[in-house]
Amino acid sequence: MSLKSVAMTIVETVERKDKEYGASWKKRGGVGAYMMLARKWDRIENISKGQHYDIFQALSDNTGDVRDDVRDLVGYLLLVLDHMENPGEEVHLPGYSGYLPPDVPDKPFTTEGHRGDGNNLYKCKECSKEVWARTMFEAMKEHHHDPA
Ligand SMILES: [Zn+2]
Repeated sequence: MSLKSVAMTIVETVERKDKEYGASWKKRGGVGAYMMLARKWDRIENISKGQHYDIFQALSDNTGDVRDDVRDLVGYLLLVLDHMENPGEEVHLPGYSGYLPPDVPDKPFTTEGHRGDGNNLYKCKECSKEVWARTMFEAMKEHHHDPA
C-alpha cells in the first residue's frame, strides 16, 4: 500500500464520520478539539508502554485496536489543519459594528464581527486595517502603530 493510499483511506473515513457526526469533534471549541487529540495520544502511549515503547510491535499485535487510535489521531490532526484553513463562517452582526469592548483602556480597535470559533474581527481606528484575533490584546500584538 502506497503512502498516498494509506492517507486517502484515512481521509475518506474522516470525511464520512465528520458528515455523520456533524463535526462534533469541534463542538466544544479549540480546547475540546485538543482533548480529543490528547486522549488518542494517551491511548497510544499507554498501549506502547506495554511493548517497551515499540510502536511497531504494538501496531503489529494491534493491542486494544491501537491501529484505530493511530488512524483516528491522524484523522483528528487533519481536521484541525482543515479547520485552520477553513475556520468557519464569518458572522457580521448588525449592531455589532463599532462595538468597543469595555476592558481595554484606550481602545485602538472597534469590533466588527466574529467567527464561530472564538475569533473576532477588529478594525484599527487609525488606519481601518482589519485583524482577526481572539482578543483585542492579541490584535494589538499583531497590528499597532508606534506612538508619534
Ligand atoms: Zn492601523
